[in-house]
Amino acid sequence: MRFSDRRLESVWDKVRGGARLDRNDGLALFETDDLLGLGRMADHAKSAREGDRVYFVLNRYISPTNVCVLSCSFCGFARKKGEPGAFEYSVEDIIGMVSDEVREVHIVGGHHPDWPFEYYERVIGGLHAARPAVQIKAFTAAEIDYLWRRWKIEPREALTRLKAAGLQTMPGGGAEIFSSRVAKQLHYTGKADADRWCEIHGIAHSLGLRTNATMLYGHVETLAERVDHLLRLRAQQDASSGFLTFIALPYQVGTTKLVPRSTPPADNLRTIAAARLLLDNFPHVEAYWVLLGEDTASVALHFGADDVNGTLEDERVQHMAGAETPAGLAREQLFRIIRDAGKIPVERDALYNIVRVWDVAA
Ligand code: SF4
Repeated sequence: MRFSDRRLESVWDKVRGGARLDRNDGLALFETDDLLGLGRMADHAKSAREGDRVYFVLNRYISPTNVCVLSCSFCGFARKKGEPGAFEYSVEDIIGMVSDEVREVHIVGGHHPDWPFEYYERVIGGLHAARPAVQIKAFTAAEIDYLWRRWKIEPREALTRLKAAGLQTMPGGGAEIFSSRVAKQLHYTGKADADRWCEIHGIAHSLGLRTNATMLYGHVETLAERVDHLLRLRAQQDASSGFLTFIALPYQVGTTKLVPRSTPPADNLRTIAAARLLLDNFPHVEAYWVLLGEDTASVALHFGADDVNGTLEDERVQHMAGAETPAGLAREQLFRIIRDAGKIPVERDALYNIVRVWDVAA
């Protein structure tokens, strides 16, 4: 492999030799102008693990509420109780949103001021009883930490009870950027910091729950803070080995406008490639198409990503679009993203068990 940036040559020697990258290597990955050289290295690392396979899952995202006691500066989703646009769903509402076509349900929401721990337990238990075939991924480490702050339910007890009710995996949100500087600037000091976030994932892993990890980037963080965040995740994976997937979350400018424009596609590709190379102990790196857009997600499959997530959007919208079934439309869309990159779509469940390999003729 030839590189226009000489710094990548020593990184490539390590990647090819199976050696672990260090912080300086990580900085070189984020600072280099040789985006294609970086992509080729990440593609090498991805292909060595998965060949041309790219995973997707038919899942459904549900937020039980957007009412939240916190006011993170990057968040355009949260509302205060009683504010216009605030919503709160009952357990029955949530069960009604999940059809039998869904393989996984992903539940995250605001830090509600009044809902007791038992509400969350009923959500999981009710959903599991009504849809036993659907795997439940729910509640970020930040939400689990909030249940301790609000109701003094220790994370180990909370996760043990939620697992008994039917919880199978945890999403990776709430990590934001592991930087006390950024946490102060963006007003999220009131949620789990790096130590606490990692501690809660470690507890989940010790209970046999697999989890994901995320990084919110493209706002006021530095490139060094991105590297440090990824290295912290790698250290936690060394310690507890339960992470399945890393998901890079580009900041959405929306109405919060922390920066004038969204992260450009090149930075999204760079971040996914750097993550694949630094997180040598993570089985999967995702290109979450909902945030990246279909085109960038498809290109990201040549930059180290081996998963595009999934998601069945609001079923009413899909029926209005003329889809025969929500699952049918979702599959077609995901096939387009994966096949445009020349890769093979592999349908999975929440734990990466293979449901079906969709060959080209399918
Ligand atoms: S805790 Fe979550 S929902 Fe609440 S303001 Fe922060 S990002 Fe938004």
